[in-house]
Amino acid sequence: MLLDLGHHDPTETGGVVMGYWVTDLEVVITEATSAGPRAGHRGDAYEPDVEHDLQEIARVYAESGRRHTYLGDWHTHLAAGPGLSRRDRKTLRAIATDKGARAPVPLMVVVASWDGGVFAAVWCRPAGARRTRSFRIKVFEHAMGSSTRSRSATVAIDDAVVGRP
Ligand SMILES: [Zn+2]
Repeated sequence: MLLDLGHHDPTETGGVVMGYWVTDLEVVITEATSAGPRAGHRGDAYEPDVEHDLQEIARVYAESGRRHTYLGDWHTHLAAGPGLSRRDRKTLRAIATDKGARAPVPLMVVVASWDGGVFAAVWCRPAGARRTRSFRIKVFEHAMGSSTRSRSATVAIDDAVVGRP
């Protein structure tokens, strides 16, 4: 995820995150895919290349022996903290209630270059929930096997806000 930041600076970029839930309270992100060729990159917004993302989801799912599924989306914020925008919250709610997405507890990972550093926050809003929750992130450098393109992050629910200004 973090490696992608430089490629599109100073416009936002993103992709999808995949992996698996360990328990209701713990999720492992094994892969963060890159933006597709038709994605829209702007200073304050990122518009995904949906067709590309669906192909990536299918690829990762197959390569993982059908173990790593779609968990949610990730995108960058430039010169802003990793908190969710109104649009981000709307997107999260839409994913949660979209049966085709098969992610009733979708994640929204935001990577923010802000205040001289890079911050990541993982947000989650189960369908029907009243508020968005944030997760504590633990990064394992060499956690999962075959992918050379991303690190794995084990994420445990923590009601304390993570990485917020
Ligand atoms: Zn955002």
